Amino acid sequence: MPMLSIGTIVIPYTIEVRPRRRYLAIQVDSQHRLKVLVPPGYPLHDVEPFLLQKSRWIMHHVMRPDSGPPMPSKTFVNGEAFLLRGEMVRLKIVRSEGQVVRVHCADEVLEVGLPTLADTTEAERVRDALVEWYRDRAIGILSARIKHYRGIVGRGPTRLKIAEYKSRWGFCRADGLIALNWRIIQAPEPVIDYVVVHELTHLDHPHHQGAFWQALEMILPHYRLQKKWLRDHGAELGAW
Ligand SMILES: [Zn+2]
Repeated sequence: MPMLSIGTIVIPYTIEVRPRRRYLAIQVDSQHRLKVLVPPGYPLHDVEPFLLQKSRWIMHHVMRPDSGPPMPSKTFVNGEAFLLRGEMVRLKIVRSEGQVVRVHCADEVLEVGLPTLADTTEAERVRDALVEWYRDRAIGILSARIKHYRGIVGRGPTRLKIAEYKSRWGFCRADGLIALNWRIIQAPEPVIDYVVVHELTHLDHPHHQGAFWQALEMILPHYRLQKKWLRDHGAELGAW
């Protein structure tokens, strides 16, 4: 088995020739094994230089701490648990007469009313309805937190955008736009506030150097706890 040396670390990998492939690709499977997929006739001595160029990505994916078995994705069935502001709510699917899908949340029950005639599978409909509902809720919750903290930070965004991002909770652009991932509203309130204040702080400190963290700590002295919570649980919020 070929070995890749990155600094003092040696990573074994396998090479597989894929007849239909036109470019080289690298994959890391759930057991953190590195695999290189090559097109037919690809010069094998070119594989290692390519891998070295991608060493940061490879280190990140192969060396990441074992997070246990892959996160079970949601199945959108009755009784399944969801999170809203850190509180657990249980999914309840009911049949409704009308044509529209309704979502309602009260007393720890997240109720989805589905019209009797469904053109797509039920799980898909429930998921779509929940995503839309969470997104809507996120607009209200996150705008209110921005409004609260803009007075404390002394700066506010020129525009607030709530959307879905695969690998980040938010970002702040040079023109003053702050974007937040709707999925963050599943987290406990202090964690939501951490993400909000983090992005507001970037308006004056567009970097992650000392001055940024000092300014953030002035407003949220315990921000490290929230940061850790996101590191430990962040993946669960994006798993559906
Ligand atoms: Zn940041």
